[in-house]
Amino acid sequence: MLETNSLKYDVIVIGGGAAGLMCAIEAGKRGRSTLVIERSEKIGKKILISGGGRCNFTNHNAAPHTYQCQNPHFHKSALSRYTQEDFLRLIEKHGIDYYEKKLGQQFCKENAKQIVNLLQAECDEAGVEIRCNCNIEKVFKNEDFKLVTADIEFHADSLVIASGGLSIPKMGATGFGYQVAKKFRMKVTDRQAALVPFVFGKDYLKNFEGLSGISMDTTVKCGNTTFRENILVTHRGVSGPAILQISSYWRPGDTVIIDLLPDLNMEEIIEEQIRKNPLQEIKTAISEHLPKRFVDRVFELWLTNKPLRQLTPKEIEGICRFFHHWEIKPDDTEGYRTAEVTLGGVNTDGISSKTFESKNQPGLYFIGEVLDVTGWLGGYNLQWAWSSGFCAGQYV
Ligand SMILES: Cc1cc2nc3c(=O)[nH]c(=O)nc-3n(C[C@H](O)[C@H](O)[C@H](O)COP(=O)(O)OP(=O)(O)OC[C@H]3O[C@@H](n4cnc5c(N)ncnc54)[C@H](O)[C@@H]3O)c2cc1C
Repeated sequence: MLETNSLKYDVIVIGGGAAGLMCAIEAGKRGRSTLVIERSEKIGKKILISGGGRCNFTNHNAAPHTYQCQNPHFHKSALSRYTQEDFLRLIEKHGIDYYEKKLGQQFCKENAKQIVNLLQAECDEAGVEIRCNCNIEKVFKNEDFKLVTADIEFHADSLVIASGGLSIPKMGATGFGYQVAKKFRMKVTDRQAALVPFVFGKDYLKNFEGLSGISMDTTVKCGNTTFRENILVTHRGVSGPAILQISSYWRPGDTVIIDLLPDLNMEEIIEEQIRKNPLQEIKTAISEHLPKRFVDRVFELWLTNKPLRQLTPKEIEGICRFFHHWEIKPDDTEGYRTAEVTLGGVNTDGISSKTFESKNQPGLYFIGEVLDVTGWLGGYNLQWAWSSGFCAGQYV
């Protein structure tokens, strides 16, 4: 017999973000009494700030290789059972206009609020109850799951942890999901801020004074991984989509190699210019292809500027190496304060890739970013939230 300040549901989802709401909708549609518990004052806060307020809600190119996970097979099944096309159908059902910005990235034409409204409407239709401003203090498992808040106890047969990762703590991100996993003797991998700008040490940063805002189309490489996109010099280091992407593959101490002229062959350009205009200075020749302020600084600090015809083969080699193979050694990243996601999370070895249920704790499910599944920049992380949430919703 439950006391009056106790409420019982078939399913309780902790976290009213993308994954949790998707899971709740599916559970509700199956006739399961479902409650979503959200500690913030409203649902979908991260969705609202995503994609610069327009929500890059999925990507046409979402596929297993666009995600990182210690088990490279774990996420395959869910991504194939609920695809980007499935989510686009849901968007179209709600009459939301969208467009492809670049590289398969799908954005709302109006704003991200449309996605939150869609999720709220689907929850309403499926009879899902949502409680905001609700902070769970403790989680127990006896015959069912018991969740304790300051004034009420909730009970559920299935408990879904959809509490997200650690990025943007000022929006309320916490390690709650990892604590629950550990409490139920599940493993959590190492974590780091990802999709995040790099910061330079004080001395190296001085070299870039006055250059912040400069953007260049590059390829950026760390280890065996390469991305082709823009980089942006900031007042703390470097950012831009190519840097955010590579940050997920970077570990402290790693060097990052940037090709500043990925479509050109610097050696050929120099040889051609020597023939055409031998008196031209090398930095003037290079400034035709890269921002002048940046090139000026490079020659001021690291290379010797002189007329093209005076360049020795060794100097040409050094110049080519610099522009095609610029090595930077970030001191750190900006951390969770500005990171879009957490790399790592609840170890997927302990989770069923079909149902998302814990292998050693029946009735306990983990979905979305709290898991050790991290997508590239460009709508991949929300697609993971939709896919994992949808699949778990069929079983909870
Ligand atoms: C600035 C920014 C921009 C982004 N832009 C994009 C984008 O355009 N496209 C894309 O694909 N991805 C984007 N991402 C990443 C994406 O938003 C996340 O990967 C995704 O929202 C994760 O969904 P989730 O449901 O797992 O977690 P979240 O969306 O983080 O939701 C978790 C929810 O759980 C709640 N919660 C946490 N602990 C508790 C608790 N103890 N009790 C109750 N509730 C709790 C939180 O308040 C939160 O609402 C962006 C991220 C950031 C930070």
